[in-house]
Amino acid sequence: MKLTLKIKLLPTNEQANLLLDTMKEANTVCNAISDVAWQEKIFNNFKLHHKIYHPYKATFNLSSQILIRQIAKVADAYKLDKKTKRTFKPLGSIAYDSRIMTYKPNNVVSLWCIGGRQKIDFVCHNPAYIPYIKGEADLVYKKGKFYLFQTVDVPEDDMEDVEEFIGVDFGLTDICVTSDGVKHSADELNKYREHQQKVRSSIQSKGTRNSRKLLKRLSGKERTHASIVNHTIAKSIVQSAKEEGKGIAIEDLTGIRFTSKRRNKKFRTKLGKWNFSMLRQYIEYKSLLNGVKCIAVPPAYTSQTCSTCNHIGKRTNKVFKCTNTNCKVDTIDADFNAAQNISLLGASVNMPEKSTMFCSLHSLSGLKPIPSL
Ligand SMILES: [Zn+2]
Repeated sequence: MKLTLKIKLLPTNEQANLLLDTMKEANTVCNAISDVAWQEKIFNNFKLHHKIYHPYKATFNLSSQILIRQIAKVADAYKLDKKTKRTFKPLGSIAYDSRIMTYKPNNVVSLWCIGGRQKIDFVCHNPAYIPYIKGEADLVYKKGKFYLFQTVDVPEDDMEDVEEFIGVDFGLTDICVTSDGVKHSADELNKYREHQQKVRSSIQSKGTRNSRKLLKRLSGKERTHASIVNHTIAKSIVQSAKEEGKGIAIEDLTGIRFTSKRRNKKFRTKLGKWNFSMLRQYIEYKSLLNGVKCIAVPPAYTSQTCSTCNHIGKRTNKVFKCTNTNCKVDTIDADFNAAQNISLLGASVNMPEKSTMFCSLHSLSGLKPIPSL
């Protein structure tokens, strides 16, 4: 599986200046190439290369490989449309591949810079992925710091076949609830959000020139916070599944915003703006890395069906009430009930012949109550 690893460079002051010079020169070249492409209407990589490579190799201070990459970058930029002239920011990112970048032992990377190669120290918060570095990296300058966004190709663990699944219900009041009964509560998150909202209003009320900058920084902070919360939840669910030898079943939320009343309601709640697709992505890729089977199930009726008797019941906020008088369930936590249904659906989607749940939920599409199984 291909992932992107974020590596923070720790250049000396001198190296930092060389990196900046290199980025500026590469982007200056991009703008110069773009001028030619635009004026002479040459947008094809091969033709641009033919026209530009030798004269620009002589004029600019760049290695062949970097120059070749910049020509390709400009040609690429014109692929989308040829009606607008492309310009490049002075410190826009530049791509490095193995011809101009080598990873060395002890967290050192050698990068081609103007004036020759530089051996630069780096830190990486996910060192376990370093052995899987493969292919290109983008050198990025952001807020005074340098990063390599490096492609890694991590082998996927062998998937074991499983019969049982942990069902995960993406929440109304909790972020998510599993069929194991684990709740990832939104209390902390809501407190955090309330606090951030207060900070935001107080900044907005000042209305100074700096407030826009501050607000932007704040929203970046909130995105990072959301990503950490989702990572932590995904990690815990995948770990339990691995330990218990189960798979994971999640709701397939693709396009659900437009098709289901229940989700529309979700989107209006406090948690409405929570990034569930990010959480789903994290669960899926962590599952893949850990050899845990993860499947998406159709979410229809998972919240209205009794997980014990399969009857359609009633959901009011946090509580599901089974209307089948013969069922031992009277009321049950609504999200837990939904998670149970998702877990059962997971098993049936995985091995349809072994379960009746799949058929019964599909026969529900007409919203007719079905007899107890
Ligand atoms: Zn029931």
